[in-house]
Formats: sequence, structure tokens, C-alpha cells
Amino acid sequence: MSENLINEEKIITLENHYKSRIKEQLVRMTTRTKSKATEFLKEFICSGYQVGSDVLDLLMSKEQPEILIKQIIDTANQLSKSPLVITKEFLNSIEPLIKGKKRSIGTNIFKRDFERATPVIKRDMLRNATEKNLIDAKEVEADITIIKTPNTTRTASKIPIENLTNLFQSRYDKLKNLLLERSDTQNYVPITELHSSDEWVDFHIIGMVASKRETKKGGYFLELDDPTGTLQLIVPTKEDNLVRKAELLLDDQVICIHGAMRNKVFLVKDILLPEIPTTHKWKGAPIPICAALISDLHVGSVKFLDDVFHQFTLWLKGEVGDKRARTLGRSIKYLLIAGDIVEGIGIFPNQEEELSIKDIYQQYDEVSKLLEQVPDHIEIIIIPGNHDATRQALPQPPVPKEFAEKLYEMSNVQVLGSPAYIKLHNIKVLLDHGRSLDDVVESIPTIETKAPDSAMVVLLRARHLAPRWGGKTTLAHETDFLVIDEIPDIFHAGHTHTNGATVYRGVTVINSGAFQAQTNYQKRININPTPGRVPIVNLKTGHVTEIDFN
Ligand code: FE
Ligand code: ZN
Repeated sequence: MSENLINEEKIITLENHYKSRIKEQLVRMTTRTKSKATEFLKEFICSGYQVGSDVLDLLMSKEQPEILIKQIIDTANQLSKSPLVITKEFLNSIEPLIKGKKRSIGTNIFKRDFERATPVIKRDMLRNATEKNLIDAKEVEADITIIKTPNTTRTASKIPIENLTNLFQSRYDKLKNLLLERSDTQNYVPITELHSSDEWVDFHIIGMVASKRETKKGGYFLELDDPTGTLQLIVPTKEDNLVRKAELLLDDQVICIHGAMRNKVFLVKDILLPEIPTTHKWKGAPIPICAALISDLHVGSVKFLDDVFHQFTLWLKGEVGDKRARTLGRSIKYLLIAGDIVEGIGIFPNQEEELSIKDIYQQYDEVSKLLEQVPDHIEIIIIPGNHDATRQALPQPPVPKEFAEKLYEMSNVQVLGSPAYIKLHNIKVLLDHGRSLDDVVESIPTIETKAPDSAMVVLLRARHLAPRWGGKTTLAHETDFLVIDEIPDIFHAGHTHTNGATVYRGVTVINSGAFQAQTNYQKRININPTPGRVPIVNLKTGHVTEIDFN
């Protein structure tokens, strides 16, 4: 049954899936400006660029947008690495070029005073210390395997929008295979093969969520695409459990529906996700050593907490804390950094005013100075985030050597892409910046930024790091790299600047917060970060200890 799914028809239908997504983008804009916006959108697409509705809105509000668009496309074409997506950030970054000015090289060299007063560790530093029998990481050889990460040579060249079909097609195929690992999905049929009769008949389909709408009575209308067709289904109100499952669905995620049909009415009886199998268990490394998980340093921002970070590195050296704290510090063998290591430049309007280092190269130089304070028996893994100097569309290639030469020179540092699947001894770790957590929070009313671990669990169960296309997260139009096809033992993300940790079916899920205090922007939108709290995972027991350095 599954083989003959790969046919011409299939490609046509998933093409509809992307066309309807683009249409939606246009619908989101005011009707008054829509026809003009369509023209502009075409202009970008024909030149090989994607563009978000926020950027279109912005351009529409300018005088002579036509001229501006020409300038943007010309400028983008001239860059050695053209962007895949024209984002607001990109517009900011090329503004000086458009105005014919050279980008000013930062003059404000950040000076750090390492000889500050001896730090005092707060009494509540160890909230949770039950760690026993830890061994000194200095005595242990590192054991790191890089399983996979986006490759280093791929650049964001122009990829036509039609390639969105590749993305959706490969995503569908990969997730269908994961769904078929379940015993209860085996007898699924293509949508066009559903023939409703006047008796209730059960059926299974595997499809991509095209839309989800709440009914007036608190149920849901669901629309699903598969390679053969589209189906509208109803999630009945009376089933609490089911309504809750539907509420947690994200656009463009791939699911299996167990339904019942009669006279062209299609009811959802159950929603089956690719899931983490219940059989997945924590394996436990052979030796009791630890990994420290951090993210979102935002070095170069005036809000980067340099003295808090300094405390952290002193602790890694075993120089601060009580006896237990020092023992834990000395057991750290790995330092994992999940992106946004620098603040970047031109990321949002007027960012200049909040920068202590105004040059991107100097920001990375400062990062290497900070990481030189980490004892060199600790292995450091770095992946990028949306503030880092690499492609913004996911998956993100590693920060290029050009920007972070000194980091590449350090013998205990590895610079990888996002996401990265690595193995520490026998423990599989999935590192991802967590860019799409914004989209999860925006799509599901019951999930909030202050509990980022629950948003991460939604992604784990969907077995995809960024299902939603056309939201805040931009996705590269290429074979889908974001399907979680290896089950991790630790899933580590950042981006929300808020700590959170949980265990889901043997997977330790951790959001590692930030080393940046609340920014003016976060204050405006009422986000309260939890900077300076570092989660430590004992790789043998899986136990998580959080240390508050702030
Ligand atoms: Fe961040
Ligand atoms: Zn981020």
C-alpha cells in the first residue's frame, strides 16, 4: 500500500500545501494593500528570495516601496552569501549598504576586569545536591561522537520557493516511517481511497496538519493533507482527552488519525503522534561525571552578565563554593552551549544602543576570551542561535571560521550547527537552539514561555524541531533535517531565556536559560528571564542539579 504513494499526484498535492501557506501569508495582511503586496511578493520570489509578511507590511509602509525592493534585491544579489529569506534583521543589516555607507567597525572595545573582588557564592547555590560518588573529570578521557549536524559547506544561496515541496515531501516520508513504527497505524489508507458508506466505518490516515480551527462548541475542525488529497475532519466536543490532544497540534506536523466515517462525515476517534516510545529508558553512562548546559550568553550586549559568568568559570575551576559544590564543579567534563553565544548586530531596530561591543568579530573574540577561562580538561560544544553569524533559516550551519577564528583554534572547543546530535559516552544528546519554541507558544494557548520544557515536549512527541512553516521560524527549503529521527537521552535547547527541565519517557528535557539580564524588549513584552541558573546533568544517573550563580 505504501509504495504506490510515490507518484505524480503526490507531488501535486503537497504543492497545494505550500501554495495555501503562501496564500495565508497574504490573507494576514490588510485587504487594502493586498494586491500591491502580491506584486511585491512575486518580485521577491522571482528573484529567488522568500519574504515574510512582516517584511512586506514594513515595505508597504515606506515611500516608494518599488525602488526600495529593487535596491534590496540588488544588494542581496551582490553579497557573497545571499540570504534565503529576506527578514527584518536582514533589512537592518543591509541598511548601511543601501544608503551607500560602509558599516562602521566598532570602536568600543569591551574591557573585562578579571581581578574583581573574590566572588561570594550564595548559600542557596546548590538547590538540589544529592550527587554522590562523583569523580574528577580531569582523570577521565573525553568520549564525544558527533552523530550528525548540518554540514559546513552549505550556504544560503537562492533556492526557489517550489523547493518547499521537497521540504514537505521529505518531512512527510520521514515522519510517516516513524509513525509506522507504531503497531496501531499499520492499516492507514491514502485519503483518496476513503469511500464513505451509510454505516459507520473506522479508518486510519497519515497526513500533515493543514489547518486547525476551534468550533463554537469547543471541539475542532481539522484539515489534513496527504500525498493524494485533503480531508476535513471533526474532533467532537464530548471527548475531553481528544480535544486536549487536538489543542496541542501544530500546523504542518505529521500525524495519524484514527477516525470513523459515515455519509461523508469524518469524525476523529484518536490522534496518534510519532511519539517517543514508552520503551525508551535512561541508559546511564558508565562513569559518574557531569555535563553543564548553558545557552544565550549574548556576549556583546550591555545586558550580558559578565560577573555571573565569571563566577561560573571560577566554580568550574574548583575555586569557589563549599565542599559539595566544588566536588560537583570538578566533575564537569562537558560544557554544552545551545546558541546565541553573541548578541550579534542588526538583529532588531536600535540594537546599537544596547551593544557593549559593536563589532561582530570582536563579539566572538570576547567569547573565546571567556571560554579560555574554562579549564581545558572540559570539552566545549557550541551550536548557533538566531543571534549568531550564520544562516537564519533552519537548520543552521555552524558559525563560520571567518567570524570565530579563535574559537576554532581552541583544542577543547567544537563548533557545530543547530541541531546537533552528539553522543557523550553512551548518552545521546540533541542540541537545538530552540528557535521554534516561539511558534509553539504562539500556537498553543496553554503553553507558556515560562515553562519552555513543556513546549519542548510538544516537539519531541511530534518528532520534529520546527513543524510550523511561515511563523517566526524560517525553514530552509531543502530535505527536512529537523525530523527527530534519533531519540535523544538529553534534549537541550535555549532561546526562551527561561530555565525549565522535565523528564519525558526517559528523555531529560532541559532549557538552559541565559546569561543575559532582562532586555528592554523583553520588559516591554513581559518576559522575565532566569539568567545565571546552570543545569548540570549527571551522565550516569541522569539526575539534574541546578546551580544559581546570579
Ligand atoms: Fe537568546
Ligand atoms: Zn535565540
